[in-house]
Amino acid sequence: MKPETIAIHLSNRVNDKDNPVVQPISLSTTYQHGEGSPIYSRINNPNRTSLEAVMAALEGGEDAAAFASGNAAGMAVFQSLDPKSHIVVPNDMYHGMRNQLLKVFEGKIEVTSVDMTDLQAISKQVRPTTSLIWMETPSNPLVRITDIKEVCKLAKEKGIRTVVDSTFATPILQQPLALGADMVMHSNTKFIGGHSDVLGGILITSEKDEFWEKVRNVQVLGGASPSAFDCYLLCRSIKTLSYRIKAHCENAMSIATFLDSHAKVEKVYYPGLPQDEGNALASRQMTGYGSMLSFVHRGDSKATDVFLSKLKLFSNATSLGGVESLIERRAKVEGEGSKTHPSLVRVSIGIENVGDLMEDIENALDE
Ligand SMILES: *Cc1c(COP(=O)(O)O)cnc(C)c1O
Repeated sequence: MKPETIAIHLSNRVNDKDNPVVQPISLSTTYQHGEGSPIYSRINNPNRTSLEAVMAALEGGEDAAAFASGNAAGMAVFQSLDPKSHIVVPNDMYHGMRNQLLKVFEGKIEVTSVDMTDLQAISKQVRPTTSLIWMETPSNPLVRITDIKEVCKLAKEKGIRTVVDSTFATPILQQPLALGADMVMHSNTKFIGGHSDVLGGILITSEKDEFWEKVRNVQVLGGASPSAFDCYLLCRSIKTLSYRIKAHCENAMSIATFLDSHAKVEKVYYPGLPQDEGNALASRQMTGYGSMLSFVHRGDSKATDVFLSKLKLFSNATSLGGVESLIERRAKVEGEGSKTHPSLVRVSIGIENVGDLMEDIENALDE
């Protein structure tokens, strides 16, 4: 089965005497003891099982574990590492995950940030105690591309585990397990949910090994389980994922090209542009360039905020991956200590009519 079919059929497991076409939401927290029936909703739930099954199939993994948020999914990986482990993470990385490492795992895990686009830099930072290389590609907010295959090769030679935060790509645009990664992580809150109304995260593993057992224990015993309703909403969203992603990518390519030629724009970061430093690699590694782009507005942070306030269709809000377009000045969101350019604008291109989106940007830039 191809992704479009997997998305519709493996997210739907009907086990009900009324034979509904769509799997009902199983709100019960507990189940009557019986062969094969769930036991207790923190341990397993039919809606969560469907979500995990469809995501494992889409990523070509052996198993998946769903969590209440993307950060909870990432945390399950870090909690499963040996104490005092050393890990290597990208210097361009989702700030919520970075802050988790710095604030929650301070003194528990040693963290080194590197430029993940530079294999030699990664190699230099690897130590005998290094147990994990965490990738994020495309990355946030600079939409940088990491060579998953090459980093995994380097890691495998040294017996280091690899995880790819593939949130910006979704399983439709990129298959990290096929490129050698041990595990994939998604914030389901973004494109997987796709409608900015559900929080979630998931890990997909290439192998049900000992480490995966630890991750499962964090999920089931740690208890950051997603609710049945959240899992239902995510399965519903996954059915249209391929088609949403197609529209997202098309719109983003047009808008990146338009911004790139605009006098008020200094630089556009989008791997779909031929001159982008990630273009060649993204063309090999991905089947599309996604719908996240950033650009530097020619104007100080104040002028950039004025531009944002003039937009009518783009909501000035953080997050990404919904059908509606969102825009934000990234340094403002990251707050004090942010190293992001003060006039860098991050955009999540939605699936509205692309002409309407362009007109909105043009009007706001020109005023
Ligand atoms: C949003 C996001 C996360 C965190 O996910 P939550 O669902 O907000 O906890 C992790 N990585 C990336 C790349 C993200 O965009």
